[in-house]
Amino acid sequence: MSSALCDSALVWLRRDLRLSDHAPLAAALRAARRVQVAFVFDTAILDALPRADRRVEFIHASLAALDERLRAQGGGLIVCHGRAADEIPALAERLGVDAVFAGRDYEPYASERDARVAQRLAAAGRRWVDLKDHVVFERAELLTGAGRPYTVFTPYKRAWLARLGVADVAEHAVQPGTGQFARPPAEPGLPPLEQLGFVPAGLAQLPLPTGEDGAQRLLAEFLGRIDDYRTARDYPAVRGVSYLSTHLRFGTVSIRALVRAAHARAAASEGAATWLSELIWREFYQQILWHHPHVVERSFRPEYDRIVWEQGPLADELYAAWEEGRTGYPLVDAAMAQIRTTGYMHNRLRMVVASFLAKDLGVDWRRGEAYFARALNDFDLAANNGGWQWAASSGCDAQPWFRIFNPVTQSEKFDPEGKFIRRYLPQLAGFDAREIHAPWLVDPERQRAANCVVGVDYPLPVVDHATARAATLARYAVVKSDADG
Ligand code: FAD
Repeated sequence: MSSALCDSALVWLRRDLRLSDHAPLAAALRAARRVQVAFVFDTAILDALPRADRRVEFIHASLAALDERLRAQGGGLIVCHGRAADEIPALAERLGVDAVFAGRDYEPYASERDARVAQRLAAAGRRWVDLKDHVVFERAELLTGAGRPYTVFTPYKRAWLARLGVADVAEHAVQPGTGQFARPPAEPGLPPLEQLGFVPAGLAQLPLPTGEDGAQRLLAEFLGRIDDYRTARDYPAVRGVSYLSTHLRFGTVSIRALVRAAHARAAASEGAATWLSELIWREFYQQILWHHPHVVERSFRPEYDRIVWEQGPLADELYAAWEEGRTGYPLVDAAMAQIRTTGYMHNRLRMVVASFLAKDLGVDWRRGEAYFARALNDFDLAANNGGWQWAASSGCDAQPWFRIFNPVTQSEKFDPEGKFIRRYLPQLAGFDAREIHAPWLVDPERQRAANCVVGVDYPLPVVDHATARAATLARYAVVKSDADG
């Protein structure tokens, strides 16, 4: 390490829980003779979570694997539990490191926290080095010809692809010299989950393998069927998508590695090209959040804040029926059972249930957004907010406000056999493929023969779609009159 610029560095892991193709880790290893690696269980985030939380369990299991790997290389993971803005400067002090390296995070809370950490480090004469790792293009790297952030996906994607060069997705190889990963001096390692105040949330029963190895397994399996992605991705009963979102969220896989894999096949494979587009959607929403942080609280398009949502006990009851999966619309209820029992929901279903909440029930989309934030394993502020504002039509490049998904025709189209519905709502299993999408229309005798009397064994619809649709068009008229005026 004769080219080392400093004696020791600390790498603070956040959305990058891996030891390969890792920009901050690779940079720290180039810059310092000795490198320590730390993670903070940030109480500013954890205190708001229930005691059984799949994300915490996922992080914990992924860190255990990472720690083992670090130990095999002479190092070891340092784990802190407290407010990250206090913990990191204090740890840097205890370790006496010259610099702290981290991957950039574009969420408002994280940006503020990092600014505070950088300030405190600077006051103590230490360097803060934050690097792009979570995305291929960040912040203002891609702007329109007029120098503005993109707000429409297609031109953004075109610019993203035109700009993409080999260097943008080159591997940031992690190559420690012998002894370069320093064994932490008397610092606590990974405590059991219980010591952090959490209990297992049943992750082991889910098909969601953790850590870098888990991500590689999912990726290898997906690459075997990526060519079918374009056609298979819309059907929740089919294994058509990658299921990599939780790994992307926590960085147990590198976005560069995924883009390299997709891009290499994109010219020959419609499936790979479509999947690459989805990875670009992810970056699109990241840059929207960075440039337009008001979306966290308000509509991307201000005129949509004039919409008056349903309020009061009836709205609360409709919301509860949605969250608990008892709306009487089987595809919606099956989707809500999927998120409740697994922490995952298929993309097509996220669009259907989000539209249903805002446009069939007239409930403020922010209530649904907040529920997804609690329930999704892959919860990511940028993608979640982008998805909800898309469905509610208040977002950039969103679904037009007058387009309202019909939950029955969506069901007939994307779960034609009712396979997905039967998996999550076994009480409907006796209905055939024609009946299952709208069981309240089935003749009472057939309902009895199918062992499912609607109104007794399964709820009646909480709203009539045609009536709700008319009410929504009227509700959204404030937007139309504004556009016309
Ligand atoms: P794949 O189809 O295999 O896609 C690969 C990756 O591309 C995903 O892992 C994800 O990182 C990215 N991606 C795909 N679609 C989108 C999209 N529309 N927007 C942004 N990124 C995308 N995704 C999240 O990662 N976290 C969320 O909190 C989230 N909330 C959503 C809420 C709503 C209302 C909607 C409509 C979509 C939301 N999405 C969210 C996007 C999308 O539904 C998930 O990324 C996808 O279902 C995850 O499954 P997968 O990894 O198998 O996806």
